[in-house]
Amino acid sequence: MIFNWLAERRRKAILAEPFPAQWEDYLLQNMAHYSYLDPQERKQLRDFTQVFVEEKEWEPCGGIDLTDEIKVTIAAQACLLLLGLDHILYKNVHSILVYPSTVTPVYPTGYWNMEGEVCAEPMPILGQASMGGPVILVWDAVRHGGIHPENGHNVVYHEFAHKLDMLDGSINGTPPLETKEQYRQWAEVCTREYNELRARAERGRRSFLDAYGATNEAEFFSVATEYFFEKPVKMEEDHNDLYQVLKGFYNQDTAARQRRHHDNR
Ligand SMILES: [Zn+2]
Repeated sequence: MIFNWLAERRRKAILAEPFPAQWEDYLLQNMAHYSYLDPQERKQLRDFTQVFVEEKEWEPCGGIDLTDEIKVTIAAQACLLLLGLDHILYKNVHSILVYPSTVTPVYPTGYWNMEGEVCAEPMPILGQASMGGPVILVWDAVRHGGIHPENGHNVVYHEFAHKLDMLDGSINGTPPLETKEQYRQWAEVCTREYNELRARAERGRRSFLDAYGATNEAEFFSVATEYFFEKPVKMEEDHNDLYQVLKGFYNQDTAARQRRHHDNR
């Protein structure tokens, strides 16, 4: 495949350039999770980040000055999800729109709209991902998420998890998996956890996962992803089945990583 070859060749050229020291400073300042990674994972994340920053279209919106700091901070958090998923690099993400702060889109571009279904009223958003469309992010929310690695909320993980879900062409909370058995377990575990979350949310009761995950299966996967990277030790203890299917998909042991980070602190 000549296109793959060109892509590989272009990526090699990108990676032949050293990762700028200033960029690593941005990671250390704006992405607390970077310090959780071992040296090999850090190197892989820097490589992914370098290619991602170069290959994607970056569109400044709302008068923002779209600096390298912003691009690197977004790219690295998006690519954290890929550390165990080589060579995906979000082929379904072409452009990223960045606003300085909370934005109310004039036209809702959510996936319901793209699917020709329900069009929600325009409401303020911190981020958005649509099928076949761009990822929209708000810089102050991105930065807040990056420097608070264990509060369960990260808009970059959330929106890019939607993009992983969309890789197989459907937005149903199930990203592409490898085996029939993985699909079977995924459906069983996620359906049970999702129904439990919905039932508790309807009664106004708090759950481990944010009640927003009860919106639909797609939101459940994105919210669960946020918690998988932010509260993995607790997820492993209290929702072990969910932790295991996410660990199987992402191919990362985030709980072991978080424990190691806490022990070394
Ligand atoms: Zn969402």
